[in-house]
Amino acid sequence: MDLALLDQTLRERGEPAFRARQVWEWTARGAAGYEAMTNLPRALRSELESAVPFSTLAVETERESRDGTVKTLFRTADGHPVEAVLMRYRDGRRSLCLSSQSGCPLTCTFCATGAMAFGRNLSASEILDQALHFRRLTELDHCVFMGMGEPMLNLDEVLAAARRLPDLGITHRRTTISTVGWMPGLRRFVDEVDEPIRLALSLHAPDDELRSRTMPVNERYPIVDVVAECRRQAQMTRRRVFVEYVMLAGVNDAPEQARALADLLGRDHFKVNLIPYNPWAASAGGKATGARPNTPPTTAGGLYEGSSRDRIAAFRHELGRARVPVTVRLTRGRDIEAACGQLAAAPRIGRSARSRAGAAT
Ligand code: SAH
Repeated sequence: MDLALLDQTLRERGEPAFRARQVWEWTARGAAGYEAMTNLPRALRSELESAVPFSTLAVETERESRDGTVKTLFRTADGHPVEAVLMRYRDGRRSLCLSSQSGCPLTCTFCATGAMAFGRNLSASEILDQALHFRRLTELDHCVFMGMGEPMLNLDEVLAAARRLPDLGITHRRTTISTVGWMPGLRRFVDEVDEPIRLALSLHAPDDELRSRTMPVNERYPIVDVVAECRRQAQMTRRRVFVEYVMLAGVNDAPEQARALADLLGRDHFKVNLIPYNPWAASAGGKATGARPNTPPTTAGGLYEGSSRDRIAAFRHELGRARVPVTVRLTRGRDIEAACGQLAAAPRIGRSARSRAGAAT
């Protein structure tokens, strides 16, 4: 729901100030539409129906995985694709993965979203409408901004959305914003956000040389600066920053790289989350096969191989020996291309006209 349009419409009708709050409360609790809002005058309900579309997003397709994960492809009113995922766990946890942009201007080589065309930033209402869609299906308790896009390139809208999530049942402590380390947004996040929203850093390499190869953004913002800024957040909030590390066979998964990572991070301020690589190119069933034709594996392809379980276990062991907290992420929704890094709703178009690392300014 376009909340600015809602305010404006109510104001123009001369409605009392509490109306917007009433509408929002119903919506946040999963109401199916204006019709359900029984404490609103009937005439107002039908007027809102035509003046303020109940969602800014239209559902295009929805797929459910064998493990209960649901991936939904939405379209914005101006036609941009947006994907979001609901993960349901056996212990009852219901976790959302939301997109902050349609596509992504960064071009991390292992990420499917990075291979599609960048559309635009999403508005706070478009971000919230992803969550509200799932709220109409089920209760929710966790949210990660780990879908399409880089949240720190769209921080104001992401924060405006995150600040309303408690009304849907998702507290700030159970909300995580993940970043590649886009410094302007990251600095603002550390300085300005008072709510206990969790920060996560997509690191994926212990040194600049390797990280620049897999994540071109690293050439702009080197590891020392990004890690120092995240450490500042951990010290200020007394909560660990989560470090995401996708395990790529023969690329970043050697035991000495684990030791370098431990030296870089130390014991006190970070918790490492090792992520099994989720394939998305030719091997994932061809969904993104057109994305980077004829690129050999492990160069600019996205055609990496995931590390073996043994290799992940050995990496984890090294971090553990250095007393760095570490977990291995469960992969969910792989069969519907809803797993980490697989969100890419449209083929890559127009990328050749743009400079790779310089696309976002
Ligand atoms: N741009 C932000 C938000 C996206 S989060 C960020 O990068 O943090 C998406 C997470 O999934 C990131 O940690 C990303 O590195 C990871 N990821 C991307 N592609 C992946 C893949 N193919 N397999 C597993 N994880 C992947």
